[in-house]
Amino acid sequence: MSTTGSDERIKYESYWWEAAPRPDLPVPTLPARAEVAVVGSGYAGLACALRLARGGRDVWVFDAEAAGWGASSRNQGQIGAIFKRSFKQLDDGYGRAKTLAIYREGQRGVAFVKELIRSEGIECQLEENGRLVLAYTPEDYDDLARELEVLRREIDFSADMVSRAEQRREIGSDFYYGAQVRHADAAIHGGLFHQGLLDRAMAAGATIAPHTPVTAIRRESKGFEIETPRGRVAADEVVIATNGYTGRATPALRRRLLPMGAYTIATEPLDPETVRRINPNRRVCSDTRKLLFGIRTAPAEPRLVMGGRASLIETDVRKTVPILRRTMTEVFPELEGVGISHAWTGFLAFTFRHLPSIGTWDGMHYALGCSGTGVAANTWLGDRVAARILGADDTATAFDDIPFDTRPFYTGYPWFLGPAVWWYRHKDRTAHRPAA
Ligand SMILES: Cc1cc2nc3c(=O)[nH]c(=O)nc-3n(C[C@H](O)[C@H](O)[C@H](O)COP(=O)(O)OP(=O)(O)OC[C@H]3O[C@@H](n4cnc5c(N)ncnc54)[C@H](O)[C@@H]3O)c2cc1C
Repeated sequence: MSTTGSDERIKYESYWWEAAPRPDLPVPTLPARAEVAVVGSGYAGLACALRLARGGRDVWVFDAEAAGWGASSRNQGQIGAIFKRSFKQLDDGYGRAKTLAIYREGQRGVAFVKELIRSEGIECQLEENGRLVLAYTPEDYDDLARELEVLRREIDFSADMVSRAEQRREIGSDFYYGAQVRHADAAIHGGLFHQGLLDRAMAAGATIAPHTPVTAIRRESKGFEIETPRGRVAADEVVIATNGYTGRATPALRRRLLPMGAYTIATEPLDPETVRRINPNRRVCSDTRKLLFGIRTAPAEPRLVMGGRASLIETDVRKTVPILRRTMTEVFPELEGVGISHAWTGFLAFTFRHLPSIGTWDGMHYALGCSGTGVAANTWLGDRVAARILGADDTATAFDDIPFDTRPFYTGYPWFLGPAVWWYRHKDRTAHRPAA
């Protein structure tokens, strides 16, 4: 067990890249024409490409970097449907029927990813142990309990409440005020899941073009023209799956998304007994802070992986390590002084409504705006986009009619994020947290 606490040996890249390094794929010669051009080779782009290739379409997947370089090989690997808007906020904004439909859609995404992993035989260390939603305040606990009463009554939602008095059987911390245990949620090795999807998509016939940024997309009389530094490609259909990395090639979509850095650390291997005490049931954990903190046990080693929004504005990941370390020891005082082995960051994307978005824009399909829950949601929506292109029945989702809106003068650079994060942090710091 490491007790050094020294940051000198930290590797500043995704822990998941140890077991799943970014693939060194050849850069192919571009064709004059492709039936479908998918921009982005994360979960959304690959889930889409897989279904399209199996459906007999000639699919090309472009990525500006190595395949899966974006959030899909950097996330915490928590599978779930944790919407940034609470049940009550959704209920107040959209009404009961729509709120329940959104929750059901979240459940479909979770079920889809688990089934995809099983049916494709993807070895990505799937652990189906559920989630702890940890109450940051007593009021949050009461809200979770009230929400659960409705969800149990209205949809098949498998969860239980665990009071603060009992929470030590779930988490080695007295920091929280109880929790909701959601049984359907799960954990994966995010890098191996990406690798598995990549292998399946290529085996099905999709071609991956890494290191090939799409710099412009023009609408033509028949289809589109994709511009890259390596040449132009005509395409009948285009799918935008660029999420937190959406850039200038699709300005209208970019101004509908709020890219946001998430910062994560992995501890050095710990005494297995410590890990068992911290997370005895190996559940994925997320708390109810305005600036959510996520916690999980690494799949194959006795390490903990944790993180969240550790900075007001985007910053060098090195600067976030002391902040994340402080949050870690606030929650788990016994981890004071443990070593951190990896620290990394990546971008996810929120929509202004804090819900994922799927649809078409100027003839292009898109699945974007994971809003923090993209392992399940963006994989599922990527698949749904493909099903639509293939003309399948029953491809409606609960997100279809939720407006994908923007704000006046917003072009895609969220200058207001700093003040917003400051405000959320202030709300978290001043929240009513009575002593036990
Ligand atoms: C640190 C971190 C922790 C997270 N933890 C979780 C979690 O535990 N659970 C969860 O559900 N979600 C989590 N997320 C979010 C989740 O990882 C993402 O929602 C999901 O991976 C998005 O997948 P995607 O395929 O839509 O986009 P990405 O995986 O981000 O892929 C987008 C790709 O598009 C490429 N690209 C962009 N522009 C262009 C262009 N012009 N031309 C070519 N290529 C382009 C990029 O290079 C990138 O590879 C986390 C995210 C981060 C960063």
